[in-house]
Amino acid sequence: MRLRNVKGSNDIIDACNYVIQEPEKGNWSNVFGNKNPIHIEIGMGKGRFITTLAQMNPDINYVGIEKYTSVLVRAIEKISDLEFNNLRFIKMDADNILTVFNPSEVSKIYLNFSDPWPKDRHAKRRLTSQSFFEKYNQILKLDGIVEFKTDNRPLFDFSIEEIPKAGWKIKDYTYDLHNDEKKNKGNVMTEYEEKFSKQKIPINKLIAYRNM
Ligand code: SAM
Repeated sequence: MRLRNVKGSNDIIDACNYVIQEPEKGNWSNVFGNKNPIHIEIGMGKGRFITTLAQMNPDINYVGIEKYTSVLVRAIEKISDLEFNNLRFIKMDADNILTVFNPSEVSKIYLNFSDPWPKDRHAKRRLTSQSFFEKYNQILKLDGIVEFKTDNRPLFDFSIEEIPKAGWKIKDYTYDLHNDEKKNKGNVMTEYEEKFSKQKIPINKLIAYRNM
């Protein structure tokens, strides 16, 4: 993918084969040309996490979702000299996630360093709110899981209380991922995670399963 002659963020997004402009529910196996499991990252930012996973796991299809054009462009630039068959991006607000995935189409959702929305009146906008988990319930397979990492302890505490309200179980969690040898094994760092880790800020992580 050559971006050298493309000017402007919108033009870069339009020129990029990795961005699915009008994603269709139930069409992902056509997009990827196979029926491999689909893992998504919501709020992927500059995309280091999901592109690293896509390189490591060619038999998994990855979809990165990002709300802002200016941020998505940074992710596109990062992979412009690479070739991926198993990675696609969508520019979208996750609020609309039910419009792009069918029930049970997704096997795993990653939420990394999601915006904390600290004011109570904005709690519903948090990607770990009950209302978002009710949406994840619809697109995830029965044995699907959500993995969530954050530096933000109030958001983490909120999530631990909130997620079970949507009928999910939190099986695994830690308040200091990088000092937990077992849970940190194989951890892939995001851009934000590296920044906080350099500042010695502990990283919280939980894994949520659907109640069955
Ligand atoms: N996950 C990356 C990381 O860990 O380095 C980026 C973290 S950054 C704090 C949060 C990202 O999520 C931003 O790029 C933001 O634009 C995106 N985001 C926040 N709310 C979103 C939403 N509702 N839908 C899609 N993206 C969202």
